[in-house]
Amino acid sequence: PFDVLVVGGGPAGAASAIYAARKGIRTGVVAERFGGQVLDTMAIENFISVPHTEGPAFASALEAHVRDYPVEIMNLQRAEKLTPKGGLFEVQLASGATLQSRTLILSTGARWRQMGVPGEEQYRNKGVAYCPHCDGPLFKGKDVAVIGGGNSGVEAAIDLAGIVKHVTLIEFDSKLRADDVLQRKLRSLSNVRIILSAKSTEVLGDGSKVTGLVYEDRNKDEKHTLALDGIFVQIGLLPNTEWLKGAISLSPRGEIVVDHHGQTSLPGVFAAGDCTTVPYKQIVIAVGEGAKASLAAFDHLIRTSAP
Ligand code: FAD
Repeated sequence: PFDVLVVGGGPAGAASAIYAARKGIRTGVVAERFGGQVLDTMAIENFISVPHTEGPAFASALEAHVRDYPVEIMNLQRAEKLTPKGGLFEVQLASGATLQSRTLILSTGARWRQMGVPGEEQYRNKGVAYCPHCDGPLFKGKDVAVIGGGNSGVEAAIDLAGIVKHVTLIEFDSKLRADDVLQRKLRSLSNVRIILSAKSTEVLGDGSKVTGLVYEDRNKDEKHTLALDGIFVQIGLLPNTEWLKGAISLSPRGEIVVDHHGQTSLPGVFAAGDCTTVPYKQIVIAVGEGAKASLAAFDHLIRTSAP
């Protein structure tokens, strides 16, 4: 069996694997897609000490760094089930194979819920964005929309209003769902317009970048077009934890509940990155949490004897 088996090969998983391997213990990484969300990212400008890089280059660097160590990488493999077995943990893969390990680090990340309208996929990273902390500065002086009037949408609109020229917040419902204090702050800003009861129906573009958004006024059954440079979709971040239901404790949003050591509800099973309850989903945070979970797994190993 492995001493540490990491499930997930994004920034959190890569950091976990490197920290474990540096302890000289048997380490494996199983990943559906090594690299994770950064593979879908264009510019990365907030990984401290790297002023600018691009997603695919960052993902290759993650993999090269892991491969500097004797880590067994099992790429293109999806974990489907976690079962404790006689002092070990067994992870069942979609291929039918099973892996055993004394400790696990779960770092399966998350995915942004998409609007699912024409143009969204085509203009992803070409005006359609999901992360205001990451991409906000790219729209300095421009007109953007935020889709979604929950806490994350309203926070994004307030954040962006300080950077861009104008923000239009689009909410499907007839009212915003964000906390009152956020709504009051939003309504106090002069460069924000709020449109309620609006269903986004199409992202418009000129072939290379976003030029606008079509929405339907749900009260009047009318379609309107907004001219825009960017669209921030803030309708939910879904953790990739469906396969863990019943095995470990998850928050109401499906995030893996962890303590300050990255320990989950199952002793010996740790978790890190976007799939956990740790707030603010960012690469630099995922990497730090991955390192922490790995050190915690090592602490666990030196306190328990091999079965
Ligand atoms: P992920 O990167 O999501 O990696 C999860 C890993 O787990 C992947 O390897 C995946 O294939 C694997 N996996 C999932 N389910 C399973 C399973 N069942 N079995 C096996 N493997 C599984 N952050 C920044 O800090 N700066 C930015 O500029 C930035 N830009 C972004 C732009 C975009 C378009 C997106 C989508 C995100 C961006 N982010 C940015 C956020 C950042 O990418 C994430 O916070 C970070 O990747 C989280 O790392 P992670 O390791 O927790 O998860």
